[in-house]
Amino acid sequence: MSSATTSILLLLLMLVGQATSCFGAPDSIEHMRIAGKEYARLSDWAKSNEFGLRWLKRDETVELVNSAAKVVLQIHSPEAQVNGIAVRLLFPLVPHGEGVWISLADLKSTFEPVLFPPRLKRGEALRSVCLDPGHGGKDPGNQVGSSQEKKFALLLSQELQTELKHAGWKVTLTRTRDNFVELPSRPEIARHDKADLFISLHFNSIGSSASSVKGAEVYCLAPAGAPSTNAGGEGGGARSFAGNRYNDENMFLAYQLQKALTRKVPIEDRGVHRARFWVLRDAVMPAVLIEAGFLSHPVEGRKIASSSYRRQLASAIVDGLAAYKSVMERGL
Ligand SMILES: [Zn+2]
Repeated sequence: MSSATTSILLLLLMLVGQATSCFGAPDSIEHMRIAGKEYARLSDWAKSNEFGLRWLKRDETVELVNSAAKVVLQIHSPEAQVNGIAVRLLFPLVPHGEGVWISLADLKSTFEPVLFPPRLKRGEALRSVCLDPGHGGKDPGNQVGSSQEKKFALLLSQELQTELKHAGWKVTLTRTRDNFVELPSRPEIARHDKADLFISLHFNSIGSSASSVKGAEVYCLAPAGAPSTNAGGEGGGARSFAGNRYNDENMFLAYQLQKALTRKVPIEDRGVHRARFWVLRDAVMPAVLIEAGFLSHPVEGRKIASSSYRRQLASAIVDGLAAYKSVMERGL
């Protein structure tokens, strides 16, 4: 291929890339490169998508509102909320010149999937879930006193299995007893089971000096080129993985589960995060990892050990899945 042809192709690819990078009216949105990443002016994006923009706190907190949604963003911060649910941005919001700029990666991968969710093709339906109780066997996961994450992850998964079956879902598990399952085998089991969705279940822990930390986090796979929002979740570099095919579904599923957990349990909202956890990288269906609370928190840790609290967690996850399914199946 001649270099001229290559240049034209590259140019076309760039143009196509830009045209699909923003929804709404992409032509009206000015792009700028900041620290090697493409950014758009927030006010342009807001206008294109019929959001009103106002400062809640001048040069600090900005709010976008329309009849369907409210988004709150902080300058220089990765913290954001969509309809009151915490969502961690891939890149912080940047003030520049007269405006505030937001990464195209966040517009496309963080906000679009939640504000303008993906849909299944007509007639398609979601019926089956593969649950993945974290750790097991020689890998206890987090340990606080005699409490082991692997035990509560399995108990929560079993409770969730019962409730999901009750709600009409077909459910399989990557382990049903206290045995060790290699990380790469877990999404492989889900693929073998032909599961429509994959949910890995875990409990968090933090050193005793920070035992006041509590709450739920839901993770989905970081998009290619974006950093993980979890220091431990960066495995494999920032390249693309099989699971990135489902970026939109992953994000929307994570959001619905975080919303259900924080509204229905309720549990403190630590937000939707991205990471390149092994079990998410290779999933060939929409996949999330739930950290359903901190074993290290004196009160939350005790709750996690109680079956009635795990029932509440399971019931919220069932509701989150129902909400996801309903939108994906076009509200049917
Ligand atoms: Zn874990």
